[in-house]
Amino acid sequence: MSTPRFALIGHPVAHSLSPRIHAEFARQTGIAMEYGLIDATAERFDAALAEFAAAGGAGANVTLPHKARAATVCNHLSDRARRCGVVNTLIRTATGWDGDNTDGLGLVRDLTDRHGQDLRGRRVLLIGAGGVAHGVAPALLDAGISGLVIVNRTDSRTDALADLLGEPARVHPRNFTDLHTLGVFDLIINATSIGHASDGGELPLPNSLIAPRGDVVDLGYGEAAIGFLAWARACGADQLIDGLGMLVEQAAESFKCWHGVRPDADAIYAELRAESGSPAAM
Ligand code: NDP
Repeated sequence: MSTPRFALIGHPVAHSLSPRIHAEFARQTGIAMEYGLIDATAERFDAALAEFAAAGGAGANVTLPHKARAATVCNHLSDRARRCGVVNTLIRTATGWDGDNTDGLGLVRDLTDRHGQDLRGRRVLLIGAGGVAHGVAPALLDAGISGLVIVNRTDSRTDALADLLGEPARVHPRNFTDLHTLGVFDLIINATSIGHASDGGELPLPNSLIAPRGDVVDLGYGEAAIGFLAWARACGADQLIDGLGMLVEQAAESFKCWHGVRPDADAIYAELRAESGSPAAM
């Protein structure tokens, strides 16, 4: 029997750490698998997925810009994928694809277990309303935060996410222009892809947003997180967290969706952290 094939499908994907993370999980659990990269633009997503399935693809992670599209090709969605409307994990079945979303669990697990955060009662600002923002928002609400404000460059996407979350989400769609009127936040999460912009773009954030002892998370990592975390440090944020921990935790949960076994993400986290350096030092 040939080795089961898994892949990350997105555009771009060349920079991804996922093959390395899943290779470590396979080694740790003794499960034989291949994990490759499929670079597919939005126009090519359906065809690329069909080709992967025809070649024996057993499961895939989905990244930008395909998470919403991926939800539409599934025969069945897990409860958490249905709730956030986007899919980051595809599981091949006899009749097609099932979809799940592990981003929210990955973020909450990283914040609570690795960084010792207690999310209960915290007022949270979520910047961005793309695929990953959809993935993490329901999990943040489930973790007991006291309020969630979502801000995004394109208001229609903020509205779509707010509609999805519904009551009692306490979502207040705004655009960036009135941010200074919103008070302070205990936790600010950058879920935009601005850190990947070739022009080194900056989010138009006032310096007054972070509460005393407030923390920040950039869901990006490496160079992509530098700009936002530098802003947060200058504003006096307490904990500066990047997306590396979430990355390994959502990957471990996807691995469990495919193989029924949840690997320990700590070893690969420590390895990648040693290479990328501490966000506090960025
Ligand atoms: P999407 O393409 O779905 O969404 C991108 C988001 O970024 C949108 O909200 C978009 O706003 C916003 N944005 C892009 N450029 C700008 C800009 N110049 N100014 C303001 N806002 C901007 O991407 P994802 O949601 O999938 O990914 C977002 C980030 O999260 C990426 O950096 C990705 O690497 C990271 N990520 C990290 C994960 C982890 O495990 N750590 C997992 C998944 C993603 P608009 O709607 O106006 O276009």
